[in-house]
Amino acid sequence: MQTKKKVNIAHELRFNVSQLLKEVTGGTRDYNIFVDSIKQLDDIQLDEPLSGRVHFLRTGPDVLVTGDLHTTIRRECGRCLTVFTAPISIELEELFYPTIDLLSGNALPAPEDADEATRIDELHTLDLYEVVRQAIVLESESSRYCRPDCKGLCPVCGQDRNINPCTCQDDSVDVRWSGLLEVEIEE
Ligand SMILES: [Zn+2]
Ligand SMILES: [Zn+2]
Repeated sequence: MQTKKKVNIAHELRFNVSQLLKEVTGGTRDYNIFVDSIKQLDDIQLDEPLSGRVHFLRTGPDVLVTGDLHTTIRRECGRCLTVFTAPISIELEELFYPTIDLLSGNALPAPEDADEATRIDELHTLDLYEVVRQAIVLESESSRYCRPDCKGLCPVCGQDRNINPCTCQDDSVDVRWSGLLEVEIEE
């Protein structure tokens, strides 16, 4: 016999997990994520909605969140300043801890290595925003440049050397000409 798994579509990264916290260990929730309200994370623009799936697993008092999410980022190349886009995929595996005991309403002690980003708040809201932000910022570190071999801007004449390979010799400027170059740049 086949058991149908219920999958909800989530349009934001905040989830009320009070029902899940009332269940026994092993309870799960599955969500398909489609969030188009987040346009920017730090200096990174999101060019596409954040999409993917997440799985919540009740483990003791905590909720283990696993999943994978995708988007496309838009940013300025660190070398040539061209704006470019790059696909980004992140994987999540984070244990979220509750701050309130659902049945008694008493405050629960925070774990030793408590991280604000993985705290389920007093209203039983599990917010993935901060862990997603951190993961995307970290993942996009490898997409700092429009392409791995971007030649960047010439420090002497300022041209984009990917488009226009100039003949300036920035690293080996002859001392006899360096004075002349400075004069030319000032003009
Ligand atoms: Zn570039
Ligand atoms: Zn040049």
